[in-house]
This record gives sequence, C-alpha cells and structure tokens, in this order.
Amino acid sequence: MSTVKAFKKPFPHRHLLGIDGLSRDDVYMILDLAEQYAAKNREPDKKHPILKGRTLINLFYENSTRTRTSFELAGKRMGADVINMSISSSSVKKGETLIDTAMTLNAMHPDFIAVRHPESGAVHLLARKVECAVINGGDGCHAHPTQALLDAMTIRQHKGKIEGLTIAICGDILHSRVARSNMQLLTLMGAKVRIIAPPTLMPACPEQYGVEVFYDMRKGLKGCDIIMMLRLQLERMEGNFIPSLREYFHFYGLDEEKLSHAKPDALIMHPGPINRGVEIDSKLADDINRSAILQQVEMGVAVRQAVLELLSHNI
Ligand code: ASP
Repeated sequence: MSTVKAFKKPFPHRHLLGIDGLSRDDVYMILDLAEQYAAKNREPDKKHPILKGRTLINLFYENSTRTRTSFELAGKRMGADVINMSISSSSVKKGETLIDTAMTLNAMHPDFIAVRHPESGAVHLLARKVECAVINGGDGCHAHPTQALLDAMTIRQHKGKIEGLTIAICGDILHSRVARSNMQLLTLMGAKVRIIAPPTLMPACPEQYGVEVFYDMRKGLKGCDIIMMLRLQLERMEGNFIPSLREYFHFYGLDEEKLSHAKPDALIMHPGPINRGVEIDSKLADDINRSAILQQVEMGVAVRQAVLELLSHNI
C-alpha cells in the first residue's frame, strides 16, 4: 500500500493563478507530491483525508468535463467537502457580478475556490476579494496552470525529464490558455519549445514567449520529442480564422505522415476535448503506444491533489 508523505517544505504561494511566479523548485515540489497521489489513486482505497473539515468550491462559468471532475475527485479523496456551483441555476443568471458572487461565497468561509471564467484576468480579480486560496481552472485565453502542470508530469513520466526535450505545441495557439501556460512552464523547466500554427492562429509577437515559431507542421515537428495538439477554440473565434475544417486538417491536423517527421518515439498529447479528424487523426489519438491523452487525464487528479495540499498549509 502506498502512503502519501507529509510535505515539510513551505510552498511560498497563497493562490495558484498562473505559472508566473512559480520557480523550478515550486514546480518540482508539486510534481513530486503529485507522483505520490498518482500512486495512491491506483489503489482500491484512494482516500488520504488530510483536508477533512476543509471546503472546496468549484465555480465554473464555462463548460468543463476533465478539470471540474478532477477538482471534485481531488477534494473528495482528500476528505474535503466539495461544492459544485452550477452557474445555470445560480444568481449569476439573475445578473450577479463575479465580484458579488465571490464575496457571497467568501462569507461562507470556504478554504479553496477553483474558478473557470471566460474572461482573461477574471480569476486574478476574484482572488483579491476573497480570503481563501484561489486556483485558476482556466481564464479566457490567458492561463490554465493545473493543465500545464499535469502535462509536465506526464512528460516527465515518459521521458524521465523535461529539460532539453524538444516540445511542439500545435494548432490554435492564439486562443489557447493551455498553450500559454505550457509555453511558460516548459521553458521554465528547460525544454526547447516550438509553436506551430497558421498565421491567423498565431499570437502577435510570438517570439516574446521564448519559443521557436513555425508555420509549417512538417518543419516544426522535425526531431520533436513531444507533440502537444490543441483544439480549435471555436467558441472564442469571431469571424473566419480558417478556410474550412478539412483544409485545416490537411495542413495542421496530426496524421501518420506528419508524425513521421518527429522522433520515432515522439509522444502525442492533447488537453481534451478532442475533435477527431480536425486537429488529430482518430487512430493516432487512440493509439496507446503513441498517445498519452488518457494518462494526462489521470495525472490531472493527482496534480490537483498536490496543489490543494500545498496551498492548504498557507490558509
Ligand atoms: N480543456 C482545455 C481548456 O479548458 C482545452 C480546451 O478546451 O480545448 O482550455
């Protein structure tokens, strides 16, 4: 039976709002602790109730399957009371602002709020108004720190390290909070990061992220260790960013032929949800020898448990 050992070193953050501000040591602390939770989560008894008496509120203003469920499971496996706020049946529908909702929830003394919001920066604003720890579950196109952490954990499990790897992030970089958090985290950890996208889906001045920029999939994938595919964020697009889904797949969708330009043991990742046949060939997504997509989901629970534990020491 595996046990989760108590962490003695202080985690120097009150909230997890993004990757900025995290040091390499902070990231290793989260990943090392998450490894212990990952082992525990594979046992019949998954409970490690060190958050007994604590309350976690999930406040999700956007749809979510993986992130919301994994925060809920993480909290429950650690013995916390978990409340999932359903926005469609809350006073948000009566016009309550984010700040009023935050102050109302704050009055009930939660210990953690995990928030997802369509506006970039909304989670930072909320964190200034509450006393509990706030975890960013994704804000607009801006940040999704727990996704980047679980991606880093998955990469380390496969390759034994992050430093020195060549990692390509491909697709709708412009609208992707996953891409932004991963560019920050993976460069912080010493990886060589490339971004590959059509010009219409590339952010302005992409070099500012400390990455190499490619507009051609085959050139960008050459010699890569990791290929991280992204979903087209149609819900964030106003106007036409691509000629057609078919054409997008032809030039930027991951298929066997494009994959052959990467290293023979290159790992395929995707944060989900997947659009089969749009950004990735269905067979490749399901190929357990090449794709780590479900492992990413599994590590998501463990990473969120580690984050909850580390933040709980500072509340
Ligand atoms: N699930 C990820 C996010 O919330 C990726 C996506 O939706 O495409 O950003």
